Amino acid sequence: MKLFKVAALPGDGIGPEVMREAIEVLRAAERKFDFKLEITGAPVGWAGIDAAGKALPEGTLALCKESDAILFGSVGLPDRDPTIPKDERPERAALLRIRKEFGLFANLRPVRLPGALAHACPLAKERQGGGIDILVVRELTGGMYFGQPKKTEDLGSGNFRAIDTMVYTTLEIERIAHMAFHAAKLRRQKVTSIDKANVLENGVLWRETVTRVGRSYADVALEHQFVDNAAMQLVLRPTQFDVMLCENLFGDILSDEAAALGGSLGMLPSASLGAGSGEKVFGFYEPAGGSAPDIAGKNLANPIAQILSAALMLRYSFGLNDAAAAIEAAVQRAIEAGHRTADIFSPAETTARKVGTREMGAAICAEVRK
Ligand code: NAD
Repeated sequence: MKLFKVAALPGDGIGPEVMREAIEVLRAAERKFDFKLEITGAPVGWAGIDAAGKALPEGTLALCKESDAILFGSVGLPDRDPTIPKDERPERAALLRIRKEFGLFANLRPVRLPGALAHACPLAKERQGGGIDILVVRELTGGMYFGQPKKTEDLGSGNFRAIDTMVYTTLEIERIAHMAFHAAKLRRQKVTSIDKANVLENGVLWRETVTRVGRSYADVALEHQFVDNAAMQLVLRPTQFDVMLCENLFGDILSDEAAALGGSLGMLPSASLGAGSGEKVFGFYEPAGGSAPDIAGKNLANPIAQILSAALMLRYSFGLNDAAAAIEAAVQRAIEAGHRTADIFSPAETTARKVGTREMGAAICAEVRK
C-alpha cells in the first residue's frame, strides 16, 4: 500500500473548519482506494504566532520538510495587531517563506463551474456551454516580478523613472511547459500557451520553447494566443480552454479573471508545485481565497475549495489520479443533489438546500463512499 506524509496547516479564520472537512474526505477516499496518509497538523499564521511566537514556527517548517506535501488552509487576520512589522505578518512570513523554501515554481488553478451553478457565474448562460472547466498553469518565480534591474530612479524636478525587467531563460520556460503538458494529459489534452510574441522578446522565446517542448507530447494539442486576445476569449468563449499556460504576470491576471467565472472563491482550489516528477512532486495545496474572517467559526464557509485542494494533492504529488477524480466527482454530485453553502445559494433554485460547512463536507464524504 502507498503511504504518504501530509503536513496539514489549517491557519486562521475559516482555515480550521474547512481543513477538518477536507481531512474527512481524504479519510473516506483512503478507505476506498489503496493508499494511506499520515496527516500531521501544525500551527501557521496567527495560530503560529500564538503558539510559538512566529507565523511559521520552526516545528511547523520542520514538519513540512519531513512531509511529501503541504495541505494549507489560509493565513491572516486583518484585525490582529497592526503594529507587527510587514515581514513578520503571516501572509509574508509564512507564505513567501514556504514558496521560497520549497522552490515552488508552478501554480495550478483549476476553475470548474458545474452546470448546476450557472446562476453563480457572471457570464450569460449561453456562454457557459453547460459548464466551464479550465486549468491555469502559471509560472511563479520568474518574469517581471523578479527580473533585475528593478528600481526607481530620481530624474530630478519631481520626475522619476521606474524600471521592471522581464526575464526568462529557456530552462525556466521548459520546466513550466512540461508541467502544463503533463497536466493536459490528465485532462482534455489541450494546451493554450499565452504570450505577447508580437511585441516582447520574452514572448518569442516563450513561444519557440513551448512549441519545442510540445513536440514530445504528441497526444496533446498545442495552440498559442496573444495575452490580450486570451483575456477577451475567456469571457467570450471560455469553453474553448483546457489548460492555459502563462508566464508569471500574465498568469496572475488571467488566473483571477478565470477565477471570477467559477462562481465563488469558496469553490477554487490551487496547487503550487516544485521540482520532481511522477509521484515525487512536492506540492503546496491551498484554497485560492483567504481566511474569510467575516464568516469564520459560523459553519458558513464553503469547504469545497479546501476539499478540491486535497484532491489536487492526491493527483499531482502522489499520482493518485483515480482517488482525485473520485473526490472531484463527489463534489459535482453533491452540488447536483442541491447542497449549497450560502456563497453559492440562490433562492431562485427551488430544488437547492442551504447547508453549512459540516453538512457540505458530510454530503461530499457520503458521495465518495458510494
Ligand atoms: P478572503 O478571500 O478571505 O474573503 C473575501 C470574501 O470571500 C469574503 O466575503 C469571504 O467571506 C468570502 N470567502 C472566501 N472564502 C470563502 C469560502 N471558503 N466560503 C465562503 N465564502 C468565502 O479575502 P480577504 O477578506 O481580502 O482577506 C482576509 C484575510 O485573508 C486577510 O488577512 C488576507 O491577507 C488573507 N488572505 C490569505 C490568503 C492565503 O492564505 N493564501 C489569500 C488571500 C487572503
